[in-house]
Amino acid sequence: MRRLLFAANWKMHVAPQQAREYLKLFAMHYRTRPDREVWFFPPAVSLEAVAHAIKDRTDARVGAQNIHWEPKGAFTGELSAPMASHAGARATLIGHSERRHLFGETDEHVGRKLMAALKADLTPVLCVGEKLEERDAGQTVAVVTQQLAAALAGLDGGTLGNVVIAYEPVWAIGTGRNASPQDAAQVHREIRAWLKARNAARTRVLYGGSVNLTNIAELLAEPELDGVLVGAASLDPEGWATLAQTGAA
Ligand code: PEP
Repeated sequence: MRRLLFAANWKMHVAPQQAREYLKLFAMHYRTRPDREVWFFPPAVSLEAVAHAIKDRTDARVGAQNIHWEPKGAFTGELSAPMASHAGARATLIGHSERRHLFGETDEHVGRKLMAALKADLTPVLCVGEKLEERDAGQTVAVVTQQLAAALAGLDGGTLGNVVIAYEPVWAIGTGRNASPQDAAQVHREIRAWLKARNAARTRVLYGGSVNLTNIAELLAEPELDGVLVGAASLDPEGWATLAQTGAA
């Protein structure tokens, strides 16, 4: 059975008490399905609250939005992978475009963070995607495969199977513009080919970028998509519960 993954990136929203209230409402509106998983990426301060609220669910997971590559040290304001794990995280976003483009994360940082996540047993959700000018210049596949190569170099197929890839075209994030399902599927095929060449056929590939209740059904109709990574439309618990239940059971 194709098990779809719905990942909610709350960005800098939802403090601990709000997270508790959110998850009560979500639980009231979301009926667990064997073909779905729902992962939450709250701000670091809310990790424990979310971990506690979902502790009895086998279909849910909480993850960090960002980690540092060192396990501890003089890195003011940073969060390490083992610390996120102690707070209940079982996954982490790596290289989200807001980290890359607003906070100057390089491919080298992304690669080091990915290794730190694997070492701490956090499932890395590696975000890749091109900027608008790169898409317009026909460089989408080159940019995406270069980001994959930089972050995943040297990993064997088994390890790559424990990584989740999120294809998120930068021009589609938080802008209300999204790639057409066919455009998204085309890039997913390229990503899958890259993975397959490294014996990693079971790696899950998500799509992200202004996914909402209006476009989710047609995106999920594309068999290339193993799920979605969603920002704005995950902030309302009832809407997110509806979105994560879209499509055939
Ligand atoms: C994201 O933050 O990864 C994202 C896709 O955001 P949005 O859904 O708001 O475009």
